[in-house]
Amino acid sequence: MSPAFIMFFGPPGCGKGTQAKKVTDELPLVQISTGELFRKHLGEKTPLGLEAQKYMSQGALVPDEITIGMVRERLEEPDCHNGAIFDGFPRTGDQALALDNLLAEMNSKLHMVVDFELPIEISRQRLMARQEGRTDDKPEVIEKRLNDHAAIEASVMPHYHAHKGLVKTVDANRPIDVIYQDVMALIKPLVG
Ligand code: AMP
Repeated sequence: MSPAFIMFFGPPGCGKGTQAKKVTDELPLVQISTGELFRKHLGEKTPLGLEAQKYMSQGALVPDEITIGMVRERLEEPDCHNGAIFDGFPRTGDQALALDNLLAEMNSKLHMVVDFELPIEISRQRLMARQEGRTDDKPEVIEKRLNDHAAIEASVMPHYHAHKGLVKTVDANRPIDVIYQDVMALIKPLVG
């Protein structure tokens, strides 16, 4: 069975991380969340983590070079051999091109983009209510991340919409388990 590579896209608070966790509990895929990888590095106080934190605490994107290098390293780990769900990556046009290249080097490609649609007002409410104690879940940083999402969408999604049928849309304004059923119906056939 060849590996399946899937990208989850959506605004902050759309639940894509939660869905990626649920899918990877059930299917032999790994979740590659660049936000979580950065937070892990920060927890371990690695130079990469400390550098990334300068950007993350402002709600700014970490530079492409750092982000792409980190994803490359993660993809080289053996647990990725069945495939992965990218969560929060790519967020720039250059990251999208880099991902295509990384997967091509593995003789593979991106098989699907799942676009989690959520009205911005609901996204804002969910982030305000989030109690994970993340340093970027502060009101002013939340506003910046919400605004930036529109720019991220504009720089990343045209790349994928150019491939007919690659992008699948899911209504993220529903209960977690209902969304999960739709997500699994999309992904399971890719994993075999
Ligand atoms: P997230 O957990 O996906 O909301 O990411 C938290 C923060 O990590 C973001 O606000 C960025 O500062 C940084 N980050 C995560 N993924 C990326 C990425 N693909 N490119 C640049 N910065 C990122």
